[in-house]
Amino acid sequence: MPKVLDFIENNRVMHQISRSRHIASLLPINTCADYGYVSITLKKVKSLPTSFNPVFRFTCLQLQWSIMAQTIPPTLQRLIEEQASRSKTAILLDKWLTLIDDITSDAIAIQSIPAPTFEEQARADAIRKQFEVVGLHDVHQDEVGNVVGRTPGTDANLPALLISAHLDTVFPIDTDLSTHYDATARHITGPGLGDNSLGLAALLGLARQITLHQIVPGCDVWWVATVGEEGLGDLRGMRHICLSQQGKIGLGLVIEGLGLGRVYHAGLGVRRLRVETIGPGGHSWLHSDRPSAIHHLIELGAALIDLFSPPAHPHAIFNIGLISGGTSINTRAPQASLSIDLRAIDNRILTGMESKIIDVIHAMPCPAGLRVSVDLIGNRPSATLQSTHPLVQTAQGVLDYVHWGPSMLDTGSTDANIPLAMGIPSVCIGITTGANAHTIKEYIDIAPIAAGMQQLTLLTLLAAEHMRDWQNWHSDSIRD
Ligand SMILES: [Zn+2]
Repeated sequence: MPKVLDFIENNRVMHQISRSRHIASLLPINTCADYGYVSITLKKVKSLPTSFNPVFRFTCLQLQWSIMAQTIPPTLQRLIEEQASRSKTAILLDKWLTLIDDITSDAIAIQSIPAPTFEEQARADAIRKQFEVVGLHDVHQDEVGNVVGRTPGTDANLPALLISAHLDTVFPIDTDLSTHYDATARHITGPGLGDNSLGLAALLGLARQITLHQIVPGCDVWWVATVGEEGLGDLRGMRHICLSQQGKIGLGLVIEGLGLGRVYHAGLGVRRLRVETIGPGGHSWLHSDRPSAIHHLIELGAALIDLFSPPAHPHAIFNIGLISGGTSINTRAPQASLSIDLRAIDNRILTGMESKIIDVIHAMPCPAGLRVSVDLIGNRPSATLQSTHPLVQTAQGVLDYVHWGPSMLDTGSTDANIPLAMGIPSVCIGITTGANAHTIKEYIDIAPIAAGMQQLTLLTLLAAEHMRDWQNWHSDSIRD
């Protein structure tokens, strides 16, 4: 029988993590010399070979768990334990177990206020009022509509910790926002409840409790409810705050209602193009010789689907998600447009895809009297914070500490893309589990909210306390 460690090093331990349907994982192991611990990267679930006898299989599983427990450097584990054992922190961590109802009712109250992207004002007003009730400092709404409040830290000379949750939803203003509580499953259904009313409720809840418990963070904390995170909002709220406060923000923590257990440390790049055709229009019978904006747009779309394919490695996508145009069925269309969504982990891949699409469009002969234009309507930069950065590892370690491990590192398109692309170490974390985001069947699980708030509390206090070290951890800790 091979020795267990040989098996792990030579064959890669395969480990089934039963709780998460997402995971999956073949675990390549590498030793991290800096800390003298073993780190594991999760990739794909497989079970141990059945050829091993049951005792050996069991030993391997035990060993895997013990290795996973060591994925966070012992120094960071000690910091987490030390922070959690401070009297005020410990009281607050316990208190979250009794505050789940408060957080959920805040989330439902926020969710009941429609807030489509570009129409967030009513919800922003409600959050601003709550920031004032909590007693945050410098409460205001900035030029683009973000709501901002501040908790002063012990050292006013340090850069601030930015904690944000987005205000906007993907749902049109007239969407039925009624919610439904399922007592058996212990979850609540409601459009936009997880994405992102619960994120806002968590932001508000932590700001309130830190104030009530008179906890003074190591640096200033800026609480920000951002506009324009979804769709064509193009992260404009976060972009504005990061640009207008350049140099004053040291670390970023982005909250999403869903996704507890995942630590988003890489911002997925997104680029969006709008292709428009403009023609003379006319009657379908009388002017049938005139070019139609719709006919040509369809040809362009078909050519893109035929001739363009996104790279497979690393994975990238191309999607025509919107198409519109024309004025009536019996009119030669004077105008038509389609919108393209490109996604990749690397900005260079996005740029390559964008220029290929423009090449395909330019290569298509354009009928006389028609005009074709291509506009960039969205640009979310990609950037990745190294998984060994203390902000990432602490987010993971805190999940273990609150018994919600093992955590998953992930890539997403969130408000965190902006600070990451500007060199500000940032992660995005979730508050609970749930599903069906961006549909009217979206739901949140109630019970995990306590663990989500505990994670957020510990990560906030630790990031504020270690602002200087973590901000300057390694100059090359972010790559785009
Ligand atoms: Zn969201």
